[in-house]
This record gives sequence, structure tokens and C-alpha cells, in this order.
Amino acid sequence: MTEQGGPPPRPARAESREAAELRAIKADHPELAEAVDLHLEILELHRRIQGRVPLPALDVTEEILTRHNGEGRPVLKFETIPLDLTDLRLMVRQTADVLRRHGALEDADYQEVQSLGRDMKLVAVVGQWYRSAAESHAMAAVGMGHGSPQPAAIGAPVSQVLGLAMRPFLSRCAEVLQQRAELAIWTHAHCALCGGEPDFSVITPAAERHLICSRCTLRWKFEPLTCPYCRNADRARITSFATPDGRYRVYACDVCHRYLKAYDGRRASRPVMPLVDGVATLPLDAAAMQRGYS
Ligand SMILES: [Zn+2]
Ligand SMILES: [Zn+2]
Repeated sequence: MTEQGGPPPRPARAESREAAELRAIKADHPELAEAVDLHLEILELHRRIQGRVPLPALDVTEEILTRHNGEGRPVLKFETIPLDLTDLRLMVRQTADVLRRHGALEDADYQEVQSLGRDMKLVAVVGQWYRSAAESHAMAAVGMGHGSPQPAAIGAPVSQVLGLAMRPFLSRCAEVLQQRAELAIWTHAHCALCGGEPDFSVITPAAERHLICSRCTLRWKFEPLTCPYCRNADRARITSFATPDGRYRVYACDVCHRYLKAYDGRRASRPVMPLVDGVATLPLDAAAMQRGYS
């Protein structure tokens, strides 16, 4: 249950660990100030909503996860996400405001998102955005290729807004699956919960690599030297390099030319924080792109 219109029920708290880490990045790297400010606002939006999203009841048994793994089909149905329409509208419109304010969203895209936020079709469009990732993997798994026959594909800028706006809802769902031992059954490179692609990873103290979903932030174990985008497992064709302090690492694939960043938790003083580490590694993105990866 959520209160509508009133102040958020969350009690006032000291600044979060993530916000403190973001401010530290800004102090050390003034050139990242704009990105830090943008993400501080996104973080605050997420905190405000996330606290009142109920945990969903996920039906996850060994049998169910084994079946889903065989089909490459993620477990979370769109209908199961605890979406409050008022909160969703708020997230979509305010996320667009934040991106616009920091110059990360063009005028036309901003207008499109704002009208979407007022539209009765919002849930249908979000549903299409959510299902497109899940369905493309399920079809690939049964040999139907990656081509998704969606009538009107959602453009990248709108997808970016929807991804950020849905994060508080999806990450609550991820909390449920993250606790389950059955998650170890999942062998795919896409997310077991929502079907999203990984866009970050973490190396554990046991030297395992866990992929992190770009949509819901679920983490799951995956071969440390296999490219999650094309499954290239030839070590000679994976280029890996680290930041001078050893905190972050890039795995770049010389077959599909994509790359994945990792937080090296083996020598770390704090856990991985996908939003924070995404900002901290913006220079690493530039380095990877300079080498021809995307
Ligand atoms: Zn996910
Ligand atoms: Zn690859």
C-alpha cells in the first residue's frame, strides 16, 4: 500500500553510503561532477520509491528454475512486478526531468517521455519494454534468432528513461531471487529474473565473476573469461586490463568487440555499488572505446 500525494513514509536518514561514495568521486575527479550530480538525483528518486515497494511473492523452486533455465526464460512475469501506477508515473516523469536538467536527454525525447507519463498507455508501453528483452532470449533459445517482431520498437532514449524509472520496482523483485540458493542453477548470460543484459560485474574474493543485470541489478555467477555477449570462450581473444589502483577491470571481447567492466572485490573495502561504480568507471569506458570496443 502506498500513500498518494503525502510525504514519503520513509523516516529521515543520514546520507546513504552510495551518496557519500558519489561525493567522494566528485572530490577526486572534478571532471565527473556533472555525472555525479545527475546520479545523486537518480539515487534520491530511487530511495524515495524503493522503500514503499512491497516484495513480490516469487514462486521459485529447483524444478521451476531448472525448467526456466532450459528454455532461457526469465522467471519474473510483468504482471508480478508490484507496480503502483502513481509511483510509476512519478518515476517516469521525474527521471526525464533529471536527465533533461543535466543535458542527458534531447528536447524531443523529453517531450515524448512526458506525454507518455500522462498517457493511459503507460503501463502497456512499460510492459512492452519489459517483455522485449525476455522474449528475445526465449526465442533465441528455441532457435528463432534474435529478431523481435515488435510492431513499434521503443527508442533508445525512452528505453533509458524506462530502465531508470523501473529500477526501484525491479530491484525489489531481484532482492527476493538473490536470496535463493536455486539461483545457482541459472547458466545464461542474461538475467534470470528479468531477461536484461548484464552491464557490470563483480569479481568475488573467491575469484568468481558475477554478472550484474542492467535492469534489476540481480547478480549471478558466470564463467570468468567467457564473453557474456557472444559466448566467446577463447582466452586469447579476450583482452583484459585494469585501472592502476586495481579496483576495476575491463574484459573486452575481440570477437564481438563488446566489453564488460568489473569491480574487483578481492581487494575492496566495500561491496560493489552498480550505480556508483558505473560513474566511477566512466574514464574506463572512454579507454575501452578508444581501443575500438563498444
Ligand atoms: Zn534483471
Ligand atoms: Zn563477445
